[in-house]
Amino acid sequence: MKTKIRKENLNKKDIYYQRKNGWSVIDEKEKVKVENFSKDYMEFMSVSKTEREFHDNSIKFLEEKGFRKLSDYNNIKAGDRVYVSNYGKTLFAFIIGKKDLKEGMHIVGAHIDSPRIDIKQNPLYENSEIAYLDTHYYGGIKKYQWLTIPLAIHGVIVKKNGEKVNVNIGESESDPVFCITDLLPHLAQSQMKKSLSEAVEGENLDLIIGSVPSKDRDAKEKVKHNILNILKQKYSITEEDFLSAELEVVPALKPREVGLDRSLILAYGHDDKVCGYTALKAFSDINNIPEYTSCLILADKEEIGSYGATGMGSNSFENACSEIVNLYYGDYNEINLKRTLKNSWMLSADVNAVFDPLFPSVSEKKNTAFINYGICVTKYTGARGKSGASDANAEFVAEIRRIFDSNKVIWQTGELGKVDEGGGGTIAHYLARYGMQVIDCGVGLMSMHAPMELASKLDIYMAYKAYFYFYMDKRK
Ligand code: MN
Ligand code: MN
Repeated sequence: MKTKIRKENLNKKDIYYQRKNGWSVIDEKEKVKVENFSKDYMEFMSVSKTEREFHDNSIKFLEEKGFRKLSDYNNIKAGDRVYVSNYGKTLFAFIIGKKDLKEGMHIVGAHIDSPRIDIKQNPLYENSEIAYLDTHYYGGIKKYQWLTIPLAIHGVIVKKNGEKVNVNIGESESDPVFCITDLLPHLAQSQMKKSLSEAVEGENLDLIIGSVPSKDRDAKEKVKHNILNILKQKYSITEEDFLSAELEVVPALKPREVGLDRSLILAYGHDDKVCGYTALKAFSDINNIPEYTSCLILADKEEIGSYGATGMGSNSFENACSEIVNLYYGDYNEINLKRTLKNSWMLSADVNAVFDPLFPSVSEKKNTAFINYGICVTKYTGARGKSGASDANAEFVAEIRRIFDSNKVIWQTGELGKVDEGGGGTIAHYLARYGMQVIDCGVGLMSMHAPMELASKLDIYMAYKAYFYFYMDKRK
């Protein structure tokens, strides 16, 4: 029999690829879920501005869900829930699955450090009777954006005897805040002629910390002296204690809903805590024993290249997996570790940029993510001819399509900017090194790396849903 496909039988729906605004797709029931999820997210974000805070709050959260630290286990088996902390800044967690561990894990990995301004090791100085803290910015910031906004100081001061003083000043309504000044427009003639990257010097991003002189007649710098007195009295720390401190300056601003329809969230640190939080929630919502072992990575230092012992460029994840392999098989055999990693699937959960109508020239619209169009899947990152990209295999992209479509996850693909406009990277390639399948997949933002970044409630919820169904997937 001869069959002939006639043109009029072809439905446009079947032959065209069409992206849709998520709000026009989801029903009322799901809208309620989006709202509730957003509330929890905003609450978590308001108290998790640094990697240390995010790490600690995640452990609290996981312990409530029955997770225990690795050292509590003598052996591990299907259903066990384990976490491994790496210096209080990076967190790895596992839910052991039904299948043999070396069949691979389903990993979602996000980073929980965000661009900010760090306090230098010997920071305190006085100039013209104003006391300042000297800083060195962390990550790719547009420096001018950080002037004249209220700033908070978070972090730790570790004294010589090991005692740790936790610092969090500027978040409570009764706290003072800090700020960096800018030049008044009246006198900014020559500043305004400079390029944006030169108008504010990195060395000048210094924080005002006080202005009252001490009454001490012998003190040479009286304002600095007064600040040192306050530090001693309130925190029992000395100037020397700054040497062993990690103090991070972040916006002293809480997440807020944006728009009359309240559809968006303005917050500090969406990059990449929005993926960190959605991954954490998805992971901890796995109530039954998953088919494949589920793994959550919340990493530090991504914004400065993943170097150091708490970055994904270190062996810390491999070390944690070695411990898991050891306790699972009863002894350590490197081939089990290698197979576990090689057979794993990973979503590198990091943010991407969405199309901004006010800056259309940097994007190529067909391949740019749009706000409210769901979680963004990025096959490759990199810059200048995909350089530095971990380009996901088409076979793996097809698996992701299957998982998301069969679970009604609203998703889209998106490339970071048009060709040769710039680019970026994620932690994907550190994991791809083990030969596992990895793809980038996260929430699209506007104003990425600004003190307050913008994300869509719907996209955030879809990230949660995407990560959850990825964890639950049985690989056909
Ligand atoms: Mn990121
Ligand atoms: Mn970033």
